[in-house]
Amino acid sequence: MDQFMERAVELAAGNVREGGQPFGAVLVKDNKIVTEGVNELHETYDVSGHAELLAIRRAQKQLQTNDLSEYTMYASGEPCPMCLAAMYFAGIGKVYYGASVENAMEAGLGKAKSIYDDLQKTKTERTLSMIQMPLDEGQENPMEIWKQRE
Ligand SMILES: [Zn+2]
Repeated sequence: MDQFMERAVELAAGNVREGGQPFGAVLVKDNKIVTEGVNELHETYDVSGHAELLAIRRAQKQLQTNDLSEYTMYASGEPCPMCLAAMYFAGIGKVYYGASVENAMEAGLGKAKSIYDDLQKTKTERTLSMIQMPLDEGQENPMEIWKQRE
């Protein structure tokens, strides 16, 4: 196995032994690990405490940039939609993963799979209601302020 995937899997296994979920991730550039993360939901009341997201957050803070386009993610498990979206926002172009969301579901961790399935549906069919509320007439419009900045 690839050394970076090996490290991600090692982190995931260690996390289970410490009471957490089986997810670990490492962010790599130029054949070097820049940051790591494990699922920290057992320690923090923070649903964004996923391995990949924490590795991204740490790299961005450390490097003081939002652009991680030169970086590759290695995750012990297939990223959930939240972590995948974070990778898109950070410009990460490649992710290697071990266990699939189907494998995770079989282990009783089916949330990522169910969200992926929900996202396949149209907005009105999803389990999470999304209702647009237009601004009132004359109300300050942040989008217009953004468009008019110099
Ligand atoms: Zn995630």
